[in-house]
Amino acid sequence: MRHKGDIFQNSAKANAVPLVMFIDMNCYFASCEQQRHPELRGKPVGVLTYDSPNAAVIAASTEAKKFGIKSGMRLGDCRQLCPELITTTTNPPWYRQIHVDVMAILRSYCDDVIPKSIDEAVLNFNSYSLVYNDLSAIAKKIKADIAAKYDYLKCSIGIAPNSFLAKVGTGLQKRDGLVVITPDNIDSYLATMKLTDLPGIATNNERRLHMIGIRNPLEMRHSSPALLRKAFGGVVGDYWHRRLNFAEVDMYSRAENRTMSATRTLSRQQSQNRQVLDSMLISLCTRLEQRMVKSGLFCKEVSFSIRYRDGGSWDTAVKLADPLQDAMEMINYIKERITDYERSHSLQALFNERVTNLTVVITSFMNGSVMQYSLFDNRMKKDTVRKVMYEIKEVYEQNNIVRKGCELIIPGVMKDAIGFGSVKDMIVKLDGEIKNRHLLEEDKPGVRRMATLKKKPVEEHKEPDYNDIPQNEEWEGVSLAQTLQHARK
Ligand SMILES: [Mg+2]
Repeated sequence: MRHKGDIFQNSAKANAVPLVMFIDMNCYFASCEQQRHPELRGKPVGVLTYDSPNAAVIAASTEAKKFGIKSGMRLGDCRQLCPELITTTTNPPWYRQIHVDVMAILRSYCDDVIPKSIDEAVLNFNSYSLVYNDLSAIAKKIKADIAAKYDYLKCSIGIAPNSFLAKVGTGLQKRDGLVVITPDNIDSYLATMKLTDLPGIATNNERRLHMIGIRNPLEMRHSSPALLRKAFGGVVGDYWHRRLNFAEVDMYSRAENRTMSATRTLSRQQSQNRQVLDSMLISLCTRLEQRMVKSGLFCKEVSFSIRYRDGGSWDTAVKLADPLQDAMEMINYIKERITDYERSHSLQALFNERVTNLTVVITSFMNGSVMQYSLFDNRMKKDTVRKVMYEIKEVYEQNNIVRKGCELIIPGVMKDAIGFGSVKDMIVKLDGEIKNRHLLEEDKPGVRRMATLKKKPVEEHKEPDYNDIPQNEEWEGVSLAQTLQHARK
């Protein structure tokens, strides 16, 4: 349960002052090409990844858009709409260069700049309320600075009390726009929009909203959190209510993760031993504990899933009244759910020889610095002790010792992980990439660099923007790579 007064990770309380700016470069790739090749300016241009008749246009210039050309359209279809379309292929180093220069301009006005993509960024001016009294003037200066460096580039800027509404603002005036959304004018803007004009609302969400009688963004803003929870099936509905009512729920920097997950695939040999399964659960939870301690976060939701060899699965989610960081607490909650389920279903144990994968995902983070401790428990002490323990482990380079210990149940399996074992669990793919599904990951960057294997992105991520967060990557095969290097000598 969320209490009133909780400061949710990344979310300020509703704040009606427009202090967040969102910048979206207009027709970015196409404008970059027109910047570099003045002969393309003022003409319909389509940017392609490969120069082939079957290629799709990945970006269209303003002039091309007037003919109805959109990103993702096949070149053939584009030519039908606009026979004089000029095509050019992408030049990523040039786009990155401009991105870096634009970000430098933004950082000269605000030190809290989060790039959202190659052509978008959010600037949080919340700590500048006494420095600047007119953010529109700042926005105009930013536009002028960009134009001074790249005269053909234009951007749309939205200013609002939160980053979501600021982004909405960039969509309201497309080329070279500047829109400030305030409590006074928000309803008049929303009244002109369709649900699918809101970033994050596509046809599926639109259908859900229609089903409960919400037909447009204005009605959505004035709906109760309870109704929106019904539409979105849970806490996501609260986020939507907060977004449209000036609270911040979308401001994430690299250090602040929306979800963290740990997952482990098990061999047949491993899943035959109940103790191994228990130990794997400890290992996964310990890994998450370690990440939370490292980033000073506590979570309020834990979910756990088991996948079976026959394709079946079982999952559970626990919402917590008190945010937790402790691995053993996390395990106890999960085990409680497992026991409840087993009792009420009198089926065979959930941890059985058919298990092929265990995954723990944690979410709803709170920063340790805003934790409220109850007066009558000793959590605060425990939390401090845990932090100190990790600091000591860090000094002695024993960060992973608990996890390693947990996975040391079957000596033969651990042999793989420390680098001398059999290669029966190894998969060599056609392209030469080598995988072993039962190895331990290491945290040390030095060791990571030695790995010849590819990183595996975490699957549980639903928000594409945040996929590159280092703490959310699972690394596999490190020790095997070392083994192979050793074997080749
Ligand atoms: Mg753009």
